[in-house]
Amino acid sequence: MSISVNQITKSYQQQKALDAISFDIKEGEIVGFLGPNGAGKSTMMKILTTYLPATEGVAKVNNLDVTTHQKEVQQHIGYLPEHNPLYLEMYVREYLSFNSKIYKVTTTRIEEVIELTGLSPEANKKIGQLSKGFRQRIGLACALLHDPKVLILDEPTTGLDPNQLVEIRELIKSVGKEKTVFLSTHIMQEVEAMCDRVIIINKGKIVADQKLTELRGEQKQVIEVEFDYRIEEAFFKKIPNLKEVKNLVGFVYQLTFDTTNDMRPAIFDFANENDLKLLQLKRQNKNLESLFRELTSS
Ligand code: ADP
Ligand code: MG
Repeated sequence: MSISVNQITKSYQQQKALDAISFDIKEGEIVGFLGPNGAGKSTMMKILTTYLPATEGVAKVNNLDVTTHQKEVQQHIGYLPEHNPLYLEMYVREYLSFNSKIYKVTTTRIEEVIELTGLSPEANKKIGQLSKGFRQRIGLACALLHDPKVLILDEPTTGLDPNQLVEIRELIKSVGKEKTVFLSTHIMQEVEAMCDRVIIINKGKIVADQKLTELRGEQKQVIEVEFDYRIEEAFFKKIPNLKEVKNLVGFVYQLTFDTTNDMRPAIFDFANENDLKLLQLKRQNKNLESLFRELTSS
């Protein structure tokens, strides 16, 4: 297990930022840590990176306890903090070489991460001259310097414009192929774009922990239809995969299917074969975004 979190609680004075949370992350997984602002994401990440002590519970990285093996844990982890502080007056290569001294990294490795994070054309520029997207690359480059097995990225895509967003996502996915990645975000689409699995946190508690394939598979399909005539529930059962029928108003029905295949053509066929006039047909998107809203609305 690359990361294991067991009953971690963190209190800031009276306030519980994390309330007995547990999860495991296997080697090679890219896991999204999703939650609204103030949910406790950064707090959890600071505990894993040994920057903050937990109030209760045990957290391990590569089987090393983060409280008793701080130095070793730091060697296994590459951390991109939420508000990554950079020296704007420094040049990119200079900054990386400055940071590399902490881990005794070779100059060859510095050039490797510059190449890997697409910073070659900018390596001789001042950090202050660069866009937010390139600054995030520098942060990632720093996190990668000592070639850690585990990457902990706190909101790596927040504040980027749409083009930068796509580039950083791709970069994270590509470096993530050989590493275990735990990244936080408050945006569901980020998880969909990058992750194998999502752990959703709300008010310091885990409210969901699932593989994205499972989440997608569980999606129900809801279609609203209106006919020109009343239709009995039993009659609707002629449509395949139908799970539930609800009469909303008049001759408007809400049909729920337990498949992700688009069932609209089947409804057309059903209307046709039974000489029914279909007045309205609307697919309601119950996507991951609305699931996230449901889970974090209280
Ligand atoms: P997230 O990263 O999900 O936005 P944080 O982990 O930063 O959430 O914060 C979780 C909760 O803990 C918030 O209510 C925040 O105000 C509180 N908090 C975070 N850091 C501190 C601190 N150093 N002192 C007091 N409260 C804090
Ligand atoms: Mg945060």
